[in-house]
Amino acid sequence: MLTGRSFYQTMNETQDILISDQWIVSRRGGKNSVDPRRPYAMLVEKERAITGETEDTAIIFLTNRECAFHCLMCDLWKNTTDVTIPVGAIPDQIEWALERMQPAKHLKLYNSGSFFDGRAIPEEDYPRIASLVSHFETVIVESHPKLIGDRCLQFRDMLKPELHVALGLETVNPDLLLRLNKRMTLQDFTHSVSFLNSHGIRVRAFILLRPPFLTEEEGIYWAERSFDLAFRVGVECCTVIPVREGNGAMDHLLAQGHFSRPDIRSLETVLEYGISLNAGRVFADLWDLNLFSSCPECFDGRAKRLNEMNMNQILPAPVECTCLQD
Ligand code: SF4
Ligand SMILES: [Zn+2]
Repeated sequence: MLTGRSFYQTMNETQDILISDQWIVSRRGGKNSVDPRRPYAMLVEKERAITGETEDTAIIFLTNRECAFHCLMCDLWKNTTDVTIPVGAIPDQIEWALERMQPAKHLKLYNSGSFFDGRAIPEEDYPRIASLVSHFETVIVESHPKLIGDRCLQFRDMLKPELHVALGLETVNPDLLLRLNKRMTLQDFTHSVSFLNSHGIRVRAFILLRPPFLTEEEGIYWAERSFDLAFRVGVECCTVIPVREGNGAMDHLLAQGHFSRPDIRSLETVLEYGISLNAGRVFADLWDLNLFSSCPECFDGRAKRLNEMNMNQILPAPVECTCLQD
């Protein structure tokens, strides 16, 4: 297993790095060129639904105003605008995408920030969005936990599909959560989940695997504790995201030895743990999965195994490889 300096050693060594909005933003490169009338990406993928069936899920990556938060590990700002986009632009993007995508039962509307941020998606757009997506069974949007409130209910009341909300929990290590500049406490997260659940809205949580300042073992430990809390407070589905560099701030921490990418084997370990809890759906984010493997011998086998775990929520036989002796 890869190791490194422990969380508390690293915390002591890096007290001089004041991780602020300004520190994070000043390390960024340029944004990509985006068109406010077009989504910057879209795809249809298979996902295990709450019914247990594997079903097509469409994802529209909406071009939107940059998120008001500046989390240390986030690179979603790359495909955003600096200013609020006009009323009507978000429904136009959805309409344009749906005309071109293959049919699916479920839809994720991801806007690189918070769907319920009024400066990102104006309330005036809710009725047209609701009408455009009325043929889906489920609509999933994302939000910062602090922006959960009456707007969610307003949107839900217009929707025919069932509304699910994805919230970034990131980690239950409170000191680390502070350093991620998420501007959220675990209490904020818990309150938001309770609020949504009390109004019949299901919640999925994003959990990070090995944020900066952690050893590989600590990364596994905190991801597992994050599953524990998420399910305990009422989350229905968790997605674990292996952390990577690429946003400037993370590259700086990587170069300074305060961050290393997690290993694909750790992703298997935490997914196995999450599935074994039998408390809700558990997924691993498999985007750019090859970044997390240094062994060409077993990468394909591990990728297949992770996909099988995502789809079937079972624990297939482990992949045997000489890299296990690292
Ligand atoms: S709240 Fe989400 S989108 Fe906004 S900076 Fe944090 S991780 Fe990125
Ligand atoms: Zn191997």
